[in-house]
Amino acid sequence: MIKSNFDENEQEKVILTVEIQCVTPPLDYQLEKLRSFFLSEYEADDIDFIIKKTPGVIGGFRIFVNDESYDWSTLGRIRQLRKSFLSLAKGHDPAHIISLLREGIENFELHVGHEPVGFVSTVGDGIATINGLHKVRYGDVVLFDSGVKGMVQDIRSDGTNGIVLFGSDSEIYEGSRVISTNRTAGIPISPKILGRIVDPLGLPIDGGPDIAAKEYYPIERPAPGIIQRKSVNRPMETGILAIDSMFPIGKGQRQLIIGDRQTGKTTIATDTIINQRDKNVICIYVAIGQKASSVAKAVSTLKKYDAMDYTVVVSSPASDPASLQYLAPYSGCAIAEYFMYHGRDVLIVYDDLSKHAVAYRTLSLLLERSPGREAYPGDVFYLHSRLLERAAQLSDSLGGGSITALPIVETQSGDVSAYIPTNIISITDGQLFLESNLFFSGQRPAIHVGLSVSRVGGSAQTNVMKKSVGSIRLDLAQYREMQTFSQFGGDLDSGTLKQLNYGAGLMQLLRQPGNSPMTLPHQVITLICAREKIFTDIPLKKIKSVQQDLLSFFDHHYSAICHKILLDPSYSPALHQEIKDAALDYLNHHML
Ligand code: ATP
Ligand code: MG
Repeated sequence: MIKSNFDENEQEKVILTVEIQCVTPPLDYQLEKLRSFFLSEYEADDIDFIIKKTPGVIGGFRIFVNDESYDWSTLGRIRQLRKSFLSLAKGHDPAHIISLLREGIENFELHVGHEPVGFVSTVGDGIATINGLHKVRYGDVVLFDSGVKGMVQDIRSDGTNGIVLFGSDSEIYEGSRVISTNRTAGIPISPKILGRIVDPLGLPIDGGPDIAAKEYYPIERPAPGIIQRKSVNRPMETGILAIDSMFPIGKGQRQLIIGDRQTGKTTIATDTIINQRDKNVICIYVAIGQKASSVAKAVSTLKKYDAMDYTVVVSSPASDPASLQYLAPYSGCAIAEYFMYHGRDVLIVYDDLSKHAVAYRTLSLLLERSPGREAYPGDVFYLHSRLLERAAQLSDSLGGGSITALPIVETQSGDVSAYIPTNIISITDGQLFLESNLFFSGQRPAIHVGLSVSRVGGSAQTNVMKKSVGSIRLDLAQYREMQTFSQFGGDLDSGTLKQLNYGAGLMQLLRQPGNSPMTLPHQVITLICAREKIFTDIPLKKIKSVQQDLLSFFDHHYSAICHKILLDPSYSPALHQEIKDAALDYLNHHML
């Protein structure tokens, strides 16, 4: 800091304070050299040295003057050497590495690091306000004296910056120093991340070894543009009959799962992940602000069904600071992009974005941004749209990879018109609305047929599925209406009774326990049999067990039909007839 003293002649004298961090204090001649260097560099009259013992620098000196720092320390040299080796080795044949390293060592020249330093003015609740770092950009990572990292989230007109901290703020004080790492926040990544559980910074939290990262992907990246995309045309099968038949999802689509608490939202997502086994799809499950026990439950389900081999879990439980919870979906998306740009198909689940919005609201209020509707900041729509827009089906020239996103949103008492639900409904390509009443009446998965929709998946549905479904969705909608009507009692004509009966049967067929995805042939057989009224005379309570029985009958006696559908998923009247005949055969032999 520059102090000004007044001598007898009332002439101002500038005294420069220079802090030297070192292990062994500088010798007298070194101090003299430093004195003359800084006197000429800063035009001061005198220098006040403060010598601080800092074992971290290993050797040499690290010097802080005003808002700048000079690095003559061993630590700084090691960092520089490492950086130069890394840039040398990048893109070269591993066979040449020794000669490259030798050349690197011979030509290595130490540059004295000279970088700006900022100071903390306020800190609390995981947020720090700093000043002095004028050249940082939004999203840059900064490093505090205590070793804690943070991310620039606010650049203000008065020259201060709002920083969200990625660690504890207990060792950051007013006046603590902070430097910029000149890197935007990102996640180190390599294919070895598959099967791992990581935090939003990409560090493993499953007790396993470090992930040897090959690349560094920024957590925020512009979504692919129109030219870089092609339309959604391949199915992303969930293995859930109600979804694959009536609300099909395509690769590259964004399909919202929305419903009250405990209505089976997570189960739909994990079922979809389980169903991707042997389908060459990489899955990412992002858990935001959930209880650690819920995350553990989801992970153990995935492990139980051998789904962890192709899955990455990004977890930021409720105990994490809001800043990490805010980062989690972006980190997950960066991992997804890594695989997508390598030509792979990726499924990413954000469980759930309501908690993400709450974390962002916390951050924004602490950063003193003005609150808007429901106290969320004005840009909360943009928060989610820039995340979900990154889901895409890339064009063939970019490798044809895709990201399918399944965001989850929790509603309060089924209110879809609250702020966050309406936002996300308008960003996504459709929603699966789960209803508590259906769930508690035993209709699981509790998908509300009237309020759910898939706007793009139809073009991605396999031909055989599209033709087998027929008008089932409409039939169910009619059934719901008639059901309300029939509650008033009175005599119903036989046609209405038949339709009611058919609808109730369909609802039974659509019931499916968790973690038991259905294959495409089984789904097609169920749908065709339902439309052919094979289950009409079976009591409601027995329909589910007859369905299971019928499907295993097909597996044992008509496995050729199943193979045929798997090999060529296209519909033909002959196939339809074959299935119908086989089902009649079953009825004749088993239902007597
Ligand atoms: P939360 O709001 O707590 O996140 P959620 O909506 O994600 O809940 P889940 O955790 O998926 O709901 O499911 C709640 C309970 O319902 C779980 O015990 C789960 O096993 C059960 N469940 C979910 N789907 C089904 C299903 N199709 N059949 C039977 N049980 C189910
Ligand atoms: Mg859940």
